[in-house]
Amino acid sequence: MEKFAKINFLGAAGVVTGSKFLIETSEKNILIDCGMFQGLKELRELNWNALPIDVAAIDIVLLTHGHLDHVGYLPRLLKQGFTGKIIGTAPTLAIAEIILKDSAKIHEEEAEKANKEKYTKHKPALPFYTIREAEKTITLFDVEIEDKWIYLSEHISYRFQYNGHIIGATFIEIDINGKRFVFSGDIGRQNDYLLNDPKKPEWADFLFVESTYGNKIHPKDDVENVLTEIIKDTIHKKGNLIIPSFAVERLQTLMFILWKLYKQHKIPDIPIFIDSPMGNNVLEVFKRFPKWHKLSMQDYNAMCNHINIIQSYRETWETIDDRRSKIIIAGSGMVTGGRVLTYLQQLVDEPQTTVLLVGYQAEGTRGRQLLDGVHEIRFFGKYYSVNAAIKSIESLSAHADQNDLLDWMSQIKNIPEKVYLIHGEPTALDTFRVKLKDRYNWNATIPKLTDIKR
Ligand SMILES: [Zn+2]
Repeated sequence: MEKFAKINFLGAAGVVTGSKFLIETSEKNILIDCGMFQGLKELRELNWNALPIDVAAIDIVLLTHGHLDHVGYLPRLLKQGFTGKIIGTAPTLAIAEIILKDSAKIHEEEAEKANKEKYTKHKPALPFYTIREAEKTITLFDVEIEDKWIYLSEHISYRFQYNGHIIGATFIEIDINGKRFVFSGDIGRQNDYLLNDPKKPEWADFLFVESTYGNKIHPKDDVENVLTEIIKDTIHKKGNLIIPSFAVERLQTLMFILWKLYKQHKIPDIPIFIDSPMGNNVLEVFKRFPKWHKLSMQDYNAMCNHINIIQSYRETWETIDDRRSKIIIAGSGMVTGGRVLTYLQQLVDEPQTTVLLVGYQAEGTRGRQLLDGVHEIRFFGKYYSVNAAIKSIESLSAHADQNDLLDWMSQIKNIPEKVYLIHGEPTALDTFRVKLKDRYNWNATIPKLTDIKR
């Protein structure tokens, strides 16, 4: 049979989310990542369409990392007939398990709510997938180690390579018929608090590179000094500092920075509370996989002992009733749900409160409203006055910026036959395309989404 390899862009083409790339070859059909579309409604609706490919013919899924926009579609893949193995590094699969179960729970709750309040045009509204379906997906998980070539068939082998970003994250190299395909996944930053620097590819015939921040350079805020000032101000006001946070990586990074500031006597001994069931599960992943991050077990234990890790909703209320000045880190990062809502509902109207936003706040979220300076905000069907001080730190991103992206490619010794820019908004993609031409004289392509038909 004639050897061939054909690529289908099923997601993260022209947009940031929904990462899914299918390589069809004469020997095996490989899906790289299987993410959900997130964000605007028209994107989210794409999730409900069947993939325009023969799903049962996919032999294997390789995962770059455990984020929802890279793994969140997996249960739907099973529904469409996939029966192969889902391969990732051990911490990636551990994170994917946490994320899929959480996502399934939200889908079930949303469907239940839609049916109860009868605002659905689908009768009855069905969850995008159920907890049972997520659990069935997890039975197909199979761990592979990093930095080792694995043969899939006679002319196909692949390798996972450490990539920073979140625990377990890798880029994936695949050799097919003597050509190397490199999928960047999401690339992390250098000098991260918890993770080692990303490795760099040395050869790529076909390069697929993320461009989330292809048009941005991260500001060089001095995170530690900014935090120190905000904490001192909180103590001075006898108030509370509430930090809405993403559960994966961001929350653990904040814990580490706060603990480090305390250890170095830069902040007083103010009580710190972590309130995120999902964040606690991710913290366990850090404990299980010490080789995947920079924290020593000694530091990990000292950090966890210093910080109060809330285990139950009853403790949430005890913490709210605790009149001491304190720091509370709780999910979700964009204030769309989670325990942080309870804290804000009780405390956002107090001028002594400070809310610190530490990540990207998408349009339409409460986090974005706070950032935009709204005077009142709605929780659980009621409006509350915003009298709290609202602050933000932008520089805690887990994504490479334009310089980091260029640097990540700097060790590639050949001129790639094709460079595809993926995983970015149109302006980021196009700015980065021009930058690549200037820097390396490479002609990059911005692929479009393969037509997805119902
Ligand atoms: Zn990611």
